[in-house]
Amino acid sequence: MMAIALSMMPLTGCKEKKAEIVDDNYRNVYEIFVASFNDSDGDKVGDLNGVTAKLDYIQDMGYTAIWFMPIHPSPSYHKYDVTDYYGIDEAYGTMEDFDKLVAEAHKRDINIILDLVVNHSSSSHPWFLSAKTAYANNKESEYLDWYNFTDHFMQGYAKINNTAYYEARFVDSMPDLNLSNEEVRAEIVKIMKFWLDKGVDGFRLDAVTSYYTGNHGYSTDFINWLNTEAKKIKEDCYIVGECWESDSVIKQYYTSGADSFFQFSMSQGDGTIAKCLKVTSPARYYKNAMESAWKLAGTAIPAIFLDNHDVNRITGGIGRSKTAETKMAYGLAAMIGGCIYTYYGTEIGMVGSGKDENKRIAMLWDSDDTSKLCKNPAGATQSEYAYPGVKQQQSDKNSLLNYHKTVNNLRNKYPSIARGTAEFVDSLSSDDVLVLKKTWNEETIVMVINLHAENTYDINLESLGSLKLGDYAAAKDSKTEYKGNVLAIGPYTIAILTGGK
Ligand code: CA
Repeated sequence: MMAIALSMMPLTGCKEKKAEIVDDNYRNVYEIFVASFNDSDGDKVGDLNGVTAKLDYIQDMGYTAIWFMPIHPSPSYHKYDVTDYYGIDEAYGTMEDFDKLVAEAHKRDINIILDLVVNHSSSSHPWFLSAKTAYANNKESEYLDWYNFTDHFMQGYAKINNTAYYEARFVDSMPDLNLSNEEVRAEIVKIMKFWLDKGVDGFRLDAVTSYYTGNHGYSTDFINWLNTEAKKIKEDCYIVGECWESDSVIKQYYTSGADSFFQFSMSQGDGTIAKCLKVTSPARYYKNAMESAWKLAGTAIPAIFLDNHDVNRITGGIGRSKTAETKMAYGLAAMIGGCIYTYYGTEIGMVGSGKDENKRIAMLWDSDDTSKLCKNPAGATQSEYAYPGVKQQQSDKNSLLNYHKTVNNLRNKYPSIARGTAEFVDSLSSDDVLVLKKTWNEETIVMVINLHAENTYDINLESLGSLKLGDYAAAKDSKTEYKGNVLAIGPYTIAILTGGK
């Protein structure tokens, strides 16, 4: 069922053989905002064919899944207000384009995860137009009970007229669906089945705490229902929820049985991962971060990320000139285990902060030729780049991009990084260096992480058996060597050794 062929070629300095991708839900996920990614037809709006054209890039980078921000018809640039859950937005292409994209992605062992936005529809959705008109005019509509109406103002409600209001927790253009209505629930199952039948591998659930605003218990129950229905359609369907809350609240949501919930506490410039680069005993701090992620997810799959379309990009959060720290943040995030998520452009150090549009600007494919780039979302007030484009970084072995690629390929080559059970080797660890063993299936690896920015450390690993240095990822241009049971590990380096006992 799980075929694994481990290439023994070192990743650093050689043309590596691609590791065979384990067909499960522990993935290196690449989040794409289609409009800003790659344009195939010259209208400067990114589209699905543009993504298909970059699948080789995505595969080469070691990503094994794509999460698409919404691709359905929608009046907004961000498309989180859907008017047809069974369609493809015209600007993005056609259903044929989508089918081709899925087929081409699967050929490359890349899974497809769609944003499922069912807390609310668009206020332009035919369901809502029918329901709103009926409520305001005391008329009948089969969709009347699909939304929540009242005749007086309530917090979180939007106005139709002085005696008609509807629930809209985000903005007026996003009326909340009545998720207690059995017909709405049947429709959600139908939507999931439609896309799963097309070969989609999973869904990212938008805004789960707003399903039943103010009631985490009800929202969790709803996710439990949705997750169960999704798995009836496709047993290995992956469900990841956006619960933008503290770890303790997320813990409750994990009782829903969904595969993953994004761990927001790890993300951004002031999050747990970024703090690992600033504290005085970073190895101990990082060890606690790892344990907290595993504890939070339990038997589910941790979902680790540094930034996404809603938050300031991590490159600015850590510091634009701090290349080594920016690299190391990704390395540390990716070594925690479970899924690692990368927002498009973060692998080349794109920046963007403040208003949402700034966080969603054009992917910089080539800094010497920007004529083919997508246009930025209207309203973006930042359009600068902190680092060169993809093309330039591909030819620089010390680039951020190549660091991301090395780390992703470590995860692909050693499946126990994402999936393994861990055993910390406290006797060999210190304030700056963390040593642990990870085991999954037939594989046991020793992971050694030097979290010091300057120092090289000699670690005698004799007590762990007869080891070989497999690969390492160095966030600074430095060498790591293993001789006579002693690992001389460079600053900001992650080393993987094999053959331990
Ligand atoms: Ca286009």
